[in-house]
Amino acid sequence: MFKKLLIANRGEIAVRIIRACREMGIETVAVYSTADKDCLHAQLADEAVCIGPAPPKDSYLRMERLLSATLASGAEAIHPGFGFLSENSKFAELCAKCNIAYIGPDSNVIERMGNKSEARNTMMAAGVPVVPGTKEPVYDATKAQAIADEIGYPVMIKASAGGGGKGMRIAHDSVEFIPLFHTAQQESKHAFADDTMYIEKYIEGARHIEFQILADQYGNVVHLGERDCSIQRRHQKMIEEAPCSMISDELRKEMGEVAVRAAKAAGYTNAGTIEFLLDKNQNYYFIEMNTRIQVEHGITEMVTGIDLIKEQLKIAAGEPLGFTQEDIKINGHAIECRINAENPEHNFIPSPGKVNALHFPGGFGVRIDTLLYQGYTIPPSYDSLAAKVITHATTRDEAIHKMLGALGETIIDGIDTNIDFLFDLMNEEEYLDGDITTDFVEKVLDRKKRMS
Ligand code: ADP
Repeated sequence: MFKKLLIANRGEIAVRIIRACREMGIETVAVYSTADKDCLHAQLADEAVCIGPAPPKDSYLRMERLLSATLASGAEAIHPGFGFLSENSKFAELCAKCNIAYIGPDSNVIERMGNKSEARNTMMAAGVPVVPGTKEPVYDATKAQAIADEIGYPVMIKASAGGGGKGMRIAHDSVEFIPLFHTAQQESKHAFADDTMYIEKYIEGARHIEFQILADQYGNVVHLGERDCSIQRRHQKMIEEAPCSMISDELRKEMGEVAVRAAKAAGYTNAGTIEFLLDKNQNYYFIEMNTRIQVEHGITEMVTGIDLIKEQLKIAAGEPLGFTQEDIKINGHAIECRINAENPEHNFIPSPGKVNALHFPGGFGVRIDTLLYQGYTIPPSYDSLAAKVITHATTRDEAIHKMLGALGETIIDGIDTNIDFLFDLMNEEEYLDGDITTDFVEKVLDRKKRMS
């Protein structure tokens, strides 16, 4: 096992990785920007190195600084976390060149799966169902429009390099298609320096179901069941659950097997996620593979009892998986709420600032992963994820009630948060019935707007 590891990330996920390393006797090196000098991860790690000023492009995205900090501190491995450089194949390649173990798959796999239109082709070749759409990337709006006319509206315009819901637009007819294509393409150019687009049929009334994969370096691939991440705003997840309450054991088994096949087709190693859309008729379609740990990995840990970060480290260190598919049992139900520093009353505008008073819930089956501490000032330079509250119980109903209690107890004073909004969502009848699709949040927001 590695003796020392550098975490090329910040905040809550950096803290999560430090904790796993501590349990495994691995020393940790944190990196931080000048805006993050008081951040929890920089204080909890064994060592901390400043890598530049606040803007990510000058610090957390500066590959050469991260590599120098790794080599100078004598760390043997880098964990990229999520976001920042976690899906950057160049970074993984540079790690390999510098003889640093990268906690993730090979750079070629990251490259192949990171290009979403290419990933579709890999999956089609492996017999994995994909959303009906373009086989080749498109760059030209008029050509794309002709393809969309053929597919039939509504369609989803998507950026090949897309992520975090960026570079994506729904077009309902041929007339609105061209301007929306341009907007999505511009957004992709700006966010990812890439204008490659593709078109998919828009799947109406879908659920977002994703399978957690673990693959070692010896060809062993297992899945750890699914997460239902249908509660989203602007294609970004807000509440996640494991398992999905609406699929049968047969469908779970089938989709799990397909996910394992998909990972094998990608030549995958380490932890990854195969994302599907499930339509009203229970047809499922691959949408993308995430070649890194996910924000919502904790709910899978709660229902499987498997520590995914530790597994990532063991796999990267060359250990074979210590379990087979048959050993994996799903125990009870887990829910995660993402508490963001934002104001739902004002279009979810970020709300950085000082946390004057802080109280988190506890108790049996309640887990908090956070970067917050009392007196901490959330800087404006990064995303607004402030805490993940996870509850685990025997049934979905119990997990929901535990979450409502946990949210009710939480006090984060000094900044705005979405806690009340999450609480209200979880009290909606459709949510309680498990009758949720990816447009649930937008529907609730529309209802609220009409009532005010
Ligand atoms: P990103 O990488 O930006 O997260 P994804 O491809 O994973 O993008 O899609 C994010 C979300 O967007 C999905 O969970 C789903 O809600 C919605 N979405 C994506 N593709 C489609 C589609 N073809 N039809 C309907 N919804 C879609």
